[in-house]
Amino acid sequence: YSQGSVEDAENSLRELAALAETAGARVIDGLLQRRANPDPATYLGKGKAQELAELVAAEGADTVIADTELAPSQRRALEDVVKVKVIDRTAVILDIFSQHAKSREGKAQVELAQLEYLLPRLRGWGESMSRQAGGQVGSAGAGMGSRGPGETKIELDRRRIHSRMAKLRKQIAGFAPSRAANRANRKRGEVPSVAIAGYTNAGKSSLVNRLTGVQELVQNQLFATLDTAVRHAETDDGRQFTYADTVGFVRNLPHQLVEAFRSTFEEVADADLILHVVDGSHPDPEAQLRTVRDVIAEVEGQAIPELVVFNKADLVDESTRMVLHGLVPDGVFVSARTGEGLAELRQRLFAALPVPDTLVTAVIP
Ligand code: GDP
Repeated sequence: YSQGSVEDAENSLRELAALAETAGARVIDGLLQRRANPDPATYLGKGKAQELAELVAAEGADTVIADTELAPSQRRALEDVVKVKVIDRTAVILDIFSQHAKSREGKAQVELAQLEYLLPRLRGWGESMSRQAGGQVGSAGAGMGSRGPGETKIELDRRRIHSRMAKLRKQIAGFAPSRAANRANRKRGEVPSVAIAGYTNAGKSSLVNRLTGVQELVQNQLFATLDTAVRHAETDDGRQFTYADTVGFVRNLPHQLVEAFRSTFEEVADADLILHVVDGSHPDPEAQLRTVRDVIAEVEGQAIPELVVFNKADLVDESTRMVLHGLVPDGVFVSARTGEGLAELRQRLFAALPVPDTLVTAVIP
């Protein structure tokens, strides 16, 4: 269901699929329903929900992801029909954020957002588990024969969540001053790092795969202790550097996730270079560019050199190229798919990397 055009809805679904894959799911199929308003009971409406149930059964899917934020009752009603777990877009995004949060502040922000999301759904989970006890939904056997965890239990959980949230808020407020100090004292990396920023689906992973290629496989063992989001690479003249994948931007980020998103994006402020990947074939690249740059500025990364890459050049016609060139005159056009422009990108990237201190000190003595 979508209020916008069919094309909008399809783009949004495609983005949701990319998000789900980022979160570690394997996406089987998509289903679109066109209606004036979402069905208050099952969101999709009875007929479409039944169709979805058949698709789920035929494909052996174990989860349905709705491209929206579902009311707890809608989620339950839909689960009753499709017989598998139903989650919504916000839950997927929260999952990605929690995988990406590195700093203590980032982790606290994400946990806070998760609890905020959970709180109004608490009753829903309890009821759904008891009604579905023995079925496929909810934890096996939870609340079997009873009325779920019961009001007292839920009240207790709710109180515990509230006090945890209060604690997290206090923690977060305490982080801000030390963050600024840390940044001021930050030791500039011995190994320069390139942060990859851009919207989900812009082609960030494809591009990094292309850029690191075989090297990554070779280096894998050496850097097994580093975070999975950090990839090691080498310039043509043998200088080491790293790529740090940042959490991708998404359209229509639910407002309660904005803070959590920013805190997971803060690693950008520690980079020596920002590789800003834009999907050149996107209908509104200017808005995407602006959003990404605004957030970079918010995490105090505006002074870091930025290299803009217009990816998917294979899908971009000549007139669009002119427009994009007008937006960012020194942007590099590449295609992670065909390999176009990669040699130029490598050159520009290597040239923009700072010469690490270790290299200088190694030469001087
Ligand atoms: P990420 O979410 O930014 O990491 O994007 P991905 O690397 O996962 O790519 C998103 C989608 O765009 C995938 O379906 C890719 O196959 C596709 N894609 C990536 N680069 C290109 C490109 O240069 N040209 C085309 N046509 N598709 C691309």
